[in-house]
Amino acid sequence: MSYKNFPMVPKVLFGRGSFNQINDVLAPKRLSINSPFIFLIDDVFKGNTWLLSRIALAYDDRVIFISANEEPKTSQVDNIVEDIILKSKERPSAIIGIGGGTLLDLAKAVSIMLTNDGEAKDYQGWDLVKNPAIYHVGIPTISGTGAEVSRTTVLTGPDRKLGINSDYTPFDQVILDSELTKDVPKDQWFFTGMDCYVHCIESLTGTYLNAFSETYGNMALNLCKEIFSENNLSEVDAQEKLMMASWHGGMSIAYSQVGIAHAMSYGLSYLLGIKHGIGNCIVFDYLEDYYPEGVSLFKKMKSEHNIILPKGLCADLSDREFDIMIDVAMSLEPLWENALGKYWKKTITREKLKALYQKM
Ligand code: NAD
Ligand code: ZN
Repeated sequence: MSYKNFPMVPKVLFGRGSFNQINDVLAPKRLSINSPFIFLIDDVFKGNTWLLSRIALAYDDRVIFISANEEPKTSQVDNIVEDIILKSKERPSAIIGIGGGTLLDLAKAVSIMLTNDGEAKDYQGWDLVKNPAIYHVGIPTISGTGAEVSRTTVLTGPDRKLGINSDYTPFDQVILDSELTKDVPKDQWFFTGMDCYVHCIESLTGTYLNAFSETYGNMALNLCKEIFSENNLSEVDAQEKLMMASWHGGMSIAYSQVGIAHAMSYGLSYLLGIKHGIGNCIVFDYLEDYYPEGVSLFKKMKSEHNIILPKGLCADLSDREFDIMIDVAMSLEPLWENALGKYWKKTITREKLKALYQKM
């Protein structure tokens, strides 16, 4: 047995309004006047002076607005990297990602690809990155994915949806300011928040569970219950706590693994472009055989918050399309092994997965 030796985010700034300190955090990191800070910002903040006016741009610093309507692609990472190289006199001093999981993952991937040759797709997998990334900062504006703390950046490439998992992927600095999440639309708050809830359930019921993952998982799960089920927190408290739940949920899966909802949701996302948070919810809703308690509370929270999930997504799919989704889901072997143990192939068949997808 060999134990994982994994990195964690070395510096964290936490607190309501802590985003105000962004310029102080960055200043000592400037390598030269020709080496810019590049801010990758969710384009939902375009024209938002409340946020943007606090970023002091100097010299060749740039803001690049990016839409989070679609999940990050390897080709998109390559294009951003090329644009940065073409327009910068020197290699950037820092890449700063401001947004949800989409922007955080893009910032991580861009910072890696600025110091590593080839294309982003070449690094999808485990421990393929050779050179340390550029100093990179993550500033979440929506809570739940755990992307702010994780060792991966999930990308859709030409052949697969798979993360760049490496010791160089985690952020060098994270700023957790829950005030930045105040305008997240209700449905999106639920979907991304449920990503955290599902991380906890999948980690805590998995065969890979250990004391490290369990303590973080329990902490995050209790916070999720307070936020989504007990409903007696002030708005500010709920935002602060969800930010910490996301962090702890991410820590929990760092040393265990996710499970069936994630495996099947990757299939939906690959074929139909369904985003991670809502995709997990769509799948999880049908997993009562595997996660009875978790799904029952999920259904309760869903109805308490009047969330309506889309239905009939797979109604008109061809057999070939079902096969694509099933292939993607089943290729994620560690997720199944975590959920069901070493002999998962005895319980999970293609027919079973097809029957589940047909319900969605
Ligand atoms: P997201 O980044 O996709 O954003 C969802 C929506 O919320 C977008 O429309 C965005 O514009 C909007 N939004 C974000 N912040 C807002 C704010 N403050 N006010 C108003 N609107 C706001 O959402 P997400 O669920 O955080 O991220 C999903 C992505 O994260 C997927 O690409 C998934 O693959 C990835 N992910 C990564 C990891 C990891 O460990 N790296 C883990 C889980 C998920
Ligand atoms: Zn997730």
